[in-house]
Amino acid sequence: MSMKSTILGLSLALAFGVVNAADPVFSDAELKAAASLRDAALTGNLSYKILESLTTEVGPRMAGSPADARAVAWGVAKFKELGFDKVWTEPVTFPAWKRGVETAEILAPFPQPLSVTALGHSVGTPAGGISAEVVRFATLKDMMEAPAAALKGKIAFIDHKMAKSSEYGYVQQGRSRGASEAAKKGALALVIRSVGTDSHRLPHTGVMRYEENVAQIPAAAISNPDADLLTRMLARGKPVSLKLTLGAAEAGSYTSQNVIGEITGSDKPDEYVVIGGHLDSWDLGTGAIDDGAGVAITMGAAEFIKRQGLKPKRTIRVVLFANEENGLLGGAAYAKAHEAEVAKIQAAAEADSGQGPAIKFASFVAPEALPLVKQMYSVLAPLGLAAGENDANPGPDMGALKALGVASFGIGLDNSDYFNLHHTPDDTFDKIEPKRINQTAATYAAFAWMAANAPISFGSGSAALKKGAK
Ligand SMILES: [Zn+2]
Repeated sequence: MSMKSTILGLSLALAFGVVNAADPVFSDAELKAAASLRDAALTGNLSYKILESLTTEVGPRMAGSPADARAVAWGVAKFKELGFDKVWTEPVTFPAWKRGVETAEILAPFPQPLSVTALGHSVGTPAGGISAEVVRFATLKDMMEAPAAALKGKIAFIDHKMAKSSEYGYVQQGRSRGASEAAKKGALALVIRSVGTDSHRLPHTGVMRYEENVAQIPAAAISNPDADLLTRMLARGKPVSLKLTLGAAEAGSYTSQNVIGEITGSDKPDEYVVIGGHLDSWDLGTGAIDDGAGVAITMGAAEFIKRQGLKPKRTIRVVLFANEENGLLGGAAYAKAHEAEVAKIQAAAEADSGQGPAIKFASFVAPEALPLVKQMYSVLAPLGLAAGENDANPGPDMGALKALGVASFGIGLDNSDYFNLHHTPDDTFDKIEPKRINQTAATYAAFAWMAANAPISFGSGSAALKKGAK
């Protein structure tokens, strides 16, 4: 251990700069408490139990669906059961959407059914479905460069295969923007290869958006094996026709809630560290990795601090955000409601990329707080985390806080298998491994404890962070 610590110390100095005698520091007792918290949480199983409860007692909880309200009730009851000092909700209003029936079948030349799902906020097809010839494009870009004549009266097929997790941001543009781009060239509908790294016959849903003043055409994803099949059929050179039937529709305005629980601080109760995940999930699975895991990791981390008999100096607040999946609406509502207290938010860090393990620790703090970050990293490094730069992204729902100049931390999770399950019927509790989620909860617990006890502000609302967030 000591040899390892020495090596870590060296790499730390490189990552976060050198500590000077005059710098603010955590006391040895605080670092020791953080390390014992870290070690105890590694076998805590608390987040695992919370996630078992959410996926079993609520299950799928699409924003605006009847299960949305059940998830909110579960969150309030669970915070209370876990002994949080304060529990409340804050409203988030958004347009709801419902899925309805969804079928796709190849009509010719080799008739057979496909595994399909509507993209979130797609319009439905007319009664009787849409039947038309399929035109394939390797990517969204290829489709956008094609002449309009190639798409008029056809079903556009974007066959962009996602090979690894890091490609998500690029590949998902076909899902989010493809329908409007296809409609501009006169396509009748859009079908995409699922944005996912698996080869299961399960389609991946996800949100899409229509551009204003462009015809709204139905949009759906087929599973990876079905995309392979369609591509093989097209490769034979004869026209392939497809029938798509979607019952999807907008479902009016809905008001959900951000669900919030606090462990109140002993010295500065009005200053707080905010951690959390999003409570909504897609409707196909039970939202275990996306984002029941983030909910359970952060609820469990905060509760674990209390259970260990530790009293944080600042408050630790856990926010379960409403409706992340349809456009980060809970995160936006939270930032708007708490805009005036930016300087009181000591740090923000979300968990929304699965069960972990945590593999990276990055900060976004004022320069004077960097020595503290170095000490925090020294406690987390034995869990196997690498040191990141001082440009952290706190997570999707907390991006709006960072934009206001809130000091942020990015706890990077291993997402190498995340996109096998993401937004599919396969996102279920059996995929959760206690060892992985325990390590992630241990990381968040030790992080939240240290952030809440830091001797100085990390710089939220300072000119340096407001400027850096731009
Ligand atoms: Zn998510």
